[in-house]
Amino acid sequence: MALSLENYLSITSSLDKKGVTLVAVSKTQPVEDILKLYQSGQRDFGENYVQELVDKQAVLPKDIRWHFIGHLQSNKVKYIAPFIHLIHGVDSESLLKEINKQAARNNRVIEVLMQVHIATEETKFGWDAAELMHFLEELGKNPLPNVRIMGLMGMASFSTDLELVRNEFKQLKGLFQSVSSFNSSIFKPTIISMGMSADYEIAMEEGSNMVRIGSLLFGTRN
Ligand SMILES: *Cc1c(COP(=O)(O)O)cnc(C)c1O
Repeated sequence: MALSLENYLSITSSLDKKGVTLVAVSKTQPVEDILKLYQSGQRDFGENYVQELVDKQAVLPKDIRWHFIGHLQSNKVKYIAPFIHLIHGVDSESLLKEINKQAARNNRVIEVLMQVHIATEETKFGWDAAELMHFLEELGKNPLPNVRIMGLMGMASFSTDLELVRNEFKQLKGLFQSVSSFNSSIFKPTIISMGMSADYEIAMEEGSNMVRIGSLLFGTRN
């Protein structure tokens, strides 16, 4: 399968109506295909390997907003800190502190999302709800002036049970509403990043305002 501009246009027209941001997930996809989507107007792209992202960022237009959507290791933050637009998968306090440190070195504030573990599978990274609530409550005591937490990100179970998937998205939305009361200078809860090719419509019905779509746009990955 290959890049489908037809899918791109139909997805963006349904997202635009609802004010939902599309992150085009371009991991493993060639630079030429990213450029074709860029020329069609797309500016937000998501990658999940640091080296691949750094290589692509170097050769592609500088007004692309790059999203890091994978599991980020602390020792690699420095490579993306100069340019990254949004880091979706913050799953620990130590990673958040490292992002703050590297952002300061680059004289910038880096925006991030906290990844919440909503799937029943054990393999997915992220905070559980109680842990995250506690962390956000305590956040005021540890100022991290160079990061801004913009909201939450979650991945539903990889399952054909759509009611299960819907319930996991509902949980994330519920948690988002609960943590919204912690709004502060470092925590600005505005983004809920949930939904991928297989489940973005359900995610939008459950309150997502940012979806991460790869294979529906670019075709299946190898
Ligand atoms: C790969 C990936 C996506 C996109 O997956 P598709 O099924 O191709 O749409 C979305 N989010 C994350 C975190 C990913 O790793």
